Amino acid sequence: AITIGILAMQGAVAEHQVMLKKVSSHTPTTITIVLIREVVDLSRCDGLIIPGGESTTMALLARLAGLTEPLREFVQKKPVWGTCAGAILLSQAVEGVKKGGQELLGGVDVKTERNGWGSQIESFEVPLFVEGLREPDRPFTGVFIRAPVILDITPSTFSPPVQILARLSAALLPHGQTLVAADEDDTDPRDARTVVALRQGRHLLTTFHPELTTDDRFHEFFITEYIALFAFIKITLASSV
Ligand code: GLN
Repeated sequence: AITIGILAMQGAVAEHQVMLKKVSSHTPTTITIVLIREVVDLSRCDGLIIPGGESTTMALLARLAGLTEPLREFVQKKPVWGTCAGAILLSQAVEGVKKGGQELLGGVDVKTERNGWGSQIESFEVPLFVEGLREPDRPFTGVFIRAPVILDITPSTFSPPVQILARLSAALLPHGQTLVAADEDDTDPRDARTVVALRQGRHLLTTFHPELTTDDRFHEFFITEYIALFAFIKITLASSV
């Protein structure tokens, strides 16, 4: 049995909960879901999901709940999956933030740009092929709502390597969005901007919303892929006491 937290400050919390219940119903693992509102909730969790929503608001509410530092510590130790706004919070750096700034948790060596695909009316859905999912040849519907764009992926020397799980095909972008970055110094800007799902060590990052579909393969991936890891972490923590 594993315990998965969903950061419940704001955003698509209930939708992630529904998905985890669905996964729990057809996998051998019992999943206990904890909605994270206070620091005590976090200490029970083996892994965490940070939902989509509004990253600035979410960071602000986490700060008010005294969760910012505990979340940063959690990210340093245990698996975390960030979707959309959650992906922004897991980034090392972010662009497109208005005055007042944006607190990040870090953990994944990417730089993102908030609302990089445009405004609400430029939201879109595209079929994605995601490495590692059950039935990988069946497309997964990527729901992009004011989604962040990944501008840069640069793993630091001591970080685990980044594994790209899904890329967006430029031809499918419906609102004339471009995959070419404005930043000309970037040697291969197209590369990072097409990436919409990646994994680095313990962490998973998707710039779209798997929780807003009825397809639970991504959640299943998070649970099954990470079970060995969760088990390992538990053993390590237990034996280090
Ligand atoms: N644009 C939002 C942000 O910057 C993210 C949108 C989302 O999570 N759907 O936080």
